[in-house]
Amino acid sequence: MATNDYESGLKMLEELTTDAQQIQDQLLGEILSKNAETEYLQGFLHGQTDKQLFKKNVPIVTYEHLKPYIDRIANGEASSDLLLVEPLIGFSLSSGTSGGLPKLIPTTAESAHITATFSKLYRSLMIKHFGDINQAGKRMELMFAKPDVETPSGLKASAVSTRAFKGSSFKAILPKLYTSPFETIFCPDTKQSMYCQILFGLIQRDEVVMIGSIFASTVVRSFKFLENNWKELCSNIKTGQISEWITDSGCRNAASLMLKPNLELADLIEDVCSCKSWEGIIRKLWPKTKYIGTVCTGAMLQYTAELEFYCGGLPLVSGFYACSEGAVGINLEPLCKPSDVSYTFLPNTVYYEFLSIKEDCVTDSQNQVQLNAMSHHEDTGPVDLVNVKLGQCYEVLVTSSMGLYRYRVGDIIKVTGFHNNTPQFQFVGRQNVALGVDMERTSEADILKAVAEAKALLDPLGLILTEYTSDGDTSSAPGHYVIFWEIKPKEGNNNNKNGKELDPKVMEQCCSKMEDSLHFTYRMYRKENMIAALEIRVVKQGTFESLMDYFVTKGASLSQYKTPICIKSKEALNILDSRVIAKFFSPRTPIQDN
Ligand code: AMP
Repeated sequence: MATNDYESGLKMLEELTTDAQQIQDQLLGEILSKNAETEYLQGFLHGQTDKQLFKKNVPIVTYEHLKPYIDRIANGEASSDLLLVEPLIGFSLSSGTSGGLPKLIPTTAESAHITATFSKLYRSLMIKHFGDINQAGKRMELMFAKPDVETPSGLKASAVSTRAFKGSSFKAILPKLYTSPFETIFCPDTKQSMYCQILFGLIQRDEVVMIGSIFASTVVRSFKFLENNWKELCSNIKTGQISEWITDSGCRNAASLMLKPNLELADLIEDVCSCKSWEGIIRKLWPKTKYIGTVCTGAMLQYTAELEFYCGGLPLVSGFYACSEGAVGINLEPLCKPSDVSYTFLPNTVYYEFLSIKEDCVTDSQNQVQLNAMSHHEDTGPVDLVNVKLGQCYEVLVTSSMGLYRYRVGDIIKVTGFHNNTPQFQFVGRQNVALGVDMERTSEADILKAVAEAKALLDPLGLILTEYTSDGDTSSAPGHYVIFWEIKPKEGNNNNKNGKELDPKVMEQCCSKMEDSLHFTYRMYRKENMIAALEIRVVKQGTFESLMDYFVTKGASLSQYKTPICIKSKEALNILDSRVIAKFFSPRTPIQDN
């Protein structure tokens, strides 16, 4: 990016954040006038485009409300008659699920253009803080493309990142600016892909100026992987031959072009990796690295301690907040700590509204936001971007050129300040997520259903599941789900004090059954080793009574007490863990949909 371009990017950021209200109103006007004749908007606005009428008549909706329209488009009906006039180039696959399948978000050439503008602004800001890293060297970004899903209409559904990786402009800059060859990003086997991307990052270590991945969980997973595989990687570098188990032809081709025997480099890496502590390893292996670029907020906050350990003081830059529904916010202070990050919402991407949330309904840590209709302030309707109040929590609604109108993204955010006239938000959490160890969202209902399926396997053994709860364990990477079970025989006394009578085969089947019953994204992440095997920890009888006693001492009402489906409190987890009598893991990856 030329100096002029980056300066114009910074100038544009200032202008956008100053004229936020006007830009938002103009954007809404454009969206409504373009799409007024669609079946969806006609039903509420009868061809009108007035903002007040929009707020009065168009309902606030979730994906489920729009799904029938989106399904019709995916099945071949013309999108221009139904939801949005602009032709679709495909769908984006969101990490949220609906009825067990990923959500499909319509995508147009215009939305791709908006994302490109957003990226330009983001890059300008990064140049301001770190200089132009494109001139300084390469990025070791760990990138994993996902297969597209073909809809009956012929339109493809792709992850937003995969669409970006396929773009011709990305392909053109990849060899010069990134360490990962194209083939490794598209290798369908994530283990082979990760191995090769780390290998190519190591052999180009002198050029690496930035390390990252979209989400922090992937960066941590990669360093764990390196910890477990550095000897083999060094041996490949020594001999110039890639390991036999890398069977993907694309990866092998890339290796044959780039991997040459390099004894000196292999010895150096071996020296660094065989040191006792891996604290600060990134700086030692990639000495020119300026920062780690990865989202560390929200569900990713749980990975930052581990990442900081590997980083040795390098800045962790959580640069932007984006979703399949639209690029949303940029972190204007990329050097601040992950826990202090706020995102400034850009007014030219989507039209926002904010539903205010009652303070006592928000538990202020990742993935713990359990909201229902009662959580919103009933007296106040949604407010516009520039009218949010400092310190207040809100649920985000978007109206966009992608056919989303007053759509609940499902994210809860808190106003922390303003840049010019535009608010800055801290990410608080996702609505209705009970468990999440990566970017998947598992609700209480998902856990309930999975447990119901699995516990039926205990029946023939004369055992019943009396109580259960769960935890997302991220003490190791990848994280995994832990389900605590209290089991008792249907008849007679407890003869299962030490868990010996539990048939390990059946218990493992229970673990697998739960995984098979969980949603699409969970099963996909498991297959890609982004989540490790689900674990059932069987606890002594009486454990859940002790758990209840604990919560009652903490103020829960005994008469209204209900075991939480998911436990976040460390003390409560200690109560459970100290009473575990047996542990079982799922022995296989869950069944995938065709
Ligand atoms: P997807 O639905 O797969 O597009 O994922 C988008 C979701 O990821 C958002 O709605 C957020 O819940 C989450 N997300 C994206 N960026 C961030 C961020 N910077 N911090 C926290 N959560 C994020």
